[in-house]
Amino acid sequence: MNIILLGPPGAGKGTQARHLVDTRGMLQLSTGDMLRDAKSSGTEMGKKVAAIMDAGKLVTDEIVIGLIEEKLSAESGAGFIFDGFPRTLAQADALSALLAKLGQSLHTVIEMRVDDDALVKRITGRFTCGDCGEVYHDETKPTAEDGKCDNCGSTNMVRRADDNEDSLRTRLMEYYKKTSPLIGYYYAKGDLRPVNGLADITEVQKSIEAILG
Ligand SMILES: [Zn+2]
Repeated sequence: MNIILLGPPGAGKGTQARHLVDTRGMLQLSTGDMLRDAKSSGTEMGKKVAAIMDAGKLVTDEIVIGLIEEKLSAESGAGFIFDGFPRTLAQADALSALLAKLGQSLHTVIEMRVDDDALVKRITGRFTCGDCGEVYHDETKPTAEDGKCDNCGSTNMVRRADDNEDSLRTRLMEYYKKTSPLIGYYYAKGDLRPVNGLADITEVQKSIEAILG
């Protein structure tokens, strides 16, 4: 069973993907991870990727599709989760052609729907303990004592630089321009199943479980 998790940055795709990996033994294909793996693999493809990335250039769709083909051909597991790919209509077409070529199919596209303002609130309030990794939030999960981790007592609290509002709004706009047309694309194919991405993490898990059966 191959699925796509579709949704804006911060919608929780990675969290849900990890849950499916843990509970179902599915394999997560995230473009960033694949490129990093390829770069350190030393294969022909890896050397190509390394050269492009070291030159600060963007890796072409052709290369990403090539890496995905390697993964899909090598391992089967309980299916693949595409997380962060496809990002454009051209990539969606390429993926569909690749799956057809390999005799595989796409089971479902899960759209994680979120309200922008609520998403911005959720992401920008987030901080973690730099020592034990516990995740906090200014409004929904503050520390009991200001600036001190409930879990380990550390005062080393970390906020990700790209979790600020301007950067998130920029990434959201990028998503609407390039990726959101995929919602219509997969809807037309009959593959799209929306879930409420702003619900509690376990609620989202349940919705996804119900869709996957
Ligand atoms: Zn801690």
